[in-house]
Amino acid sequence: MTYVVTENCIKCKYMDCVEVCPVDCFYEGENMLVIHPDECIDCGVCEPECPAEAIKPDTERSLEDWLKLNADYAKSWPNITQKRDAPPDAKEWDGKPDKLKLFSAEPGDGD
Ligand code: SF4
Ligand code: SF4
Repeated sequence: MTYVVTENCIKCKYMDCVEVCPVDCFYEGENMLVIHPDECIDCGVCEPECPAEAIKPDTERSLEDWLKLNADYAKSWPNITQKRDAPPDAKEWDGKPDKLKLFSAEPGDGD
């Protein structure tokens, strides 16, 4: 089992999650974060910290595609352990539907 970052993180990227993870298993893309499924210890601490409610346990239904996206990009994006400012328009994007089409495969800056 692992926790998974899902669609509502895209363009929100508040980064509260990275501060609480005891094993530093978040990785940063240009407009979202992912969790490395082999490093996550399933502690669940990050889930309630996400203001966008984007973090889910992989036991929830229909998360296979998101689990694959997390696993794939955690291999190439840089590690992130320190919160930076959220994008200025994060609030506007919070809860918007169909954000997957806005997903960027480009890496973020990392720590
Ligand atoms: S707190 Fe939530 S929205 Fe913010 S970066 Fe983490 S998963 Fe994404
Ligand atoms: S569940 Fe725990 S180990 Fe996994 S990403 Fe969240 S805080 Fe890190």
